[in-house]
Amino acid sequence: TMAAFPPPIKNPEIKYTKLFINNEFVDAKDGSTFPTENPATGEEICQVSEAKAADVDAAVAAARKAFQPGSEWRKMEPKKRGVLLNKLADLMERDYQYLASLESLDGGKVYTQTCGLDIRISIDGLRYFAGWADKDHGKTMPMENGYFAYTRHEPIGVCGAIIPWNVPLVMFCWKLGPCVSMGNVLVLKPAELTPLTALYMASLIKEAGFPPGVVNVIPGFGKTAGSPLSRHMDVDKIAFTGSTLVGRQIQKDSAETNLKRVTLELGGKSPNIVFADADMDYAVKMAHDSVFMNAGQICCAGTRTFVHEDIYDEFVKRSVERAKQGRIGEPSDLEVEHGPQITKLQKDKILKYLEGGVKQGCKIECGGGEVKGKGHFVQPTVLTNLTDDMTVSKEEIFGPVQQIYKFKDVSEVLKRANNTKYGLAAAVFTNDINKAMAISNGVEAGTVWVNCYFKMEPSYPFGGYKESGIGREQGEYVLHEYTEVKTVVMKI
Ligand code: NAD
Repeated sequence: TMAAFPPPIKNPEIKYTKLFINNEFVDAKDGSTFPTENPATGEEICQVSEAKAADVDAAVAAARKAFQPGSEWRKMEPKKRGVLLNKLADLMERDYQYLASLESLDGGKVYTQTCGLDIRISIDGLRYFAGWADKDHGKTMPMENGYFAYTRHEPIGVCGAIIPWNVPLVMFCWKLGPCVSMGNVLVLKPAELTPLTALYMASLIKEAGFPPGVVNVIPGFGKTAGSPLSRHMDVDKIAFTGSTLVGRQIQKDSAETNLKRVTLELGGKSPNIVFADADMDYAVKMAHDSVFMNAGQICCAGTRTFVHEDIYDEFVKRSVERAKQGRIGEPSDLEVEHGPQITKLQKDKILKYLEGGVKQGCKIECGGGEVKGKGHFVQPTVLTNLTDDMTVSKEEIFGPVQQIYKFKDVSEVLKRANNTKYGLAAAVFTNDINKAMAISNGVEAGTVWVNCYFKMEPSYPFGGYKESGIGREQGEYVLHEYTEVKTVVMKI
């Protein structure tokens, strides 16, 4: 499949580094900048303008102006919004190689995965929501004599989006698509660690012909740009993806200010349950991919692999063999499977979890350490001898660490799978329909994969039970998160 992608561009030219407000690239008001680095080398790529409260105000004001009644955007036919989103998707196809190379550079993401997954998912999502622009509509209600009632789905208004660094482009498009499809306007803050593709997308948004102020992109830090956005009195909704800790804060920010609508996509500790009758080679491969993809930095990664006792020893043996196979290194190398962690801080956090795990009695079957040299690499690691109450079993490690647990039967494994504050995703591998149904009905998770993992389409809703989030993204369900319902009652 590798040959299907265009080769990566080495050292892609960095074209946009300033804030994007009102369809113009501008310096931060106080002139501040911050560095963004290449995680594979630890070296600075470039400086990027740093938004603070005054810049957030300017971006929100531009968005508000674009949303005024009578504006070009408000007067635009819904289907024309779809045309603009499709045009943006076309421009992304045109610049596929550049976007993939830039995403891979700024996020340390393996280039082949970025091409095959990130860019594809991003473009498909925009086209899907382009289609919805003129298809989400209200209802007429049964009327009693002399009355007529109907609902209108109206845009909410100025939406803020705050996104993480692990899949920057996908998150950008997941926020943008439904937001503008439903006629809202957007102020988006990319993660401070990965601002570059968001700024390039801003240039494509202008080129596609979106009116000024409809989409604004303001790189900056959580405390100094994210928080002023989530506390802003003139922002009507915040869509957030990131850690549960910050999600909690954003919910609080809304409560303390204007009760803006909040949707949250947060962390996970997803169970992947393998029964004895499953195709072992396939299940080993899928379990591996479910946790090691993107250096383990995926919110719905299958971090807890539960394996039936009858096949446990063999499954562990093959999983360790598989984990040792993948090449670690420079993400643009087409033969590389494992890229770096995003920062030294993340790398150190992962190593600390492993150290703590060993102290609590778990066994490192392979990996377990950093890769010496440039960049923030951690060896692919498999842990066994785990109990459910260990810290590593409860907390999100967000690194290349597969944890394999032994189980006996359906009711036991269901209970253990659900013994977590998270509920983002789950998977089950079996050819027994009864087991598959028992797990998919009983597991507390927003997505359940049966005999597959990470299979996603823009039409599949995605989101968390419990502390993994509030609301859904993608699919028809997300439209409700970007519209207000107005009931109109007429006496006739
Ligand atoms: P993070 O929560 O620290 O940062 C996410 C974003 O929030 C960044 O843009 C950051 O600048 C901003 N932010 C930080 N503090 C803020 C504040 N006080 N107010 C407003 N904004 C603030 O998370 P991270 O470390 O960047 O990402 C890793 C975490 O995100 C993991 O826990 C992972 O599971 C989760 N995640 C979840 C999903 C999902 O879809 N559920 C997707 C990706 C990542």
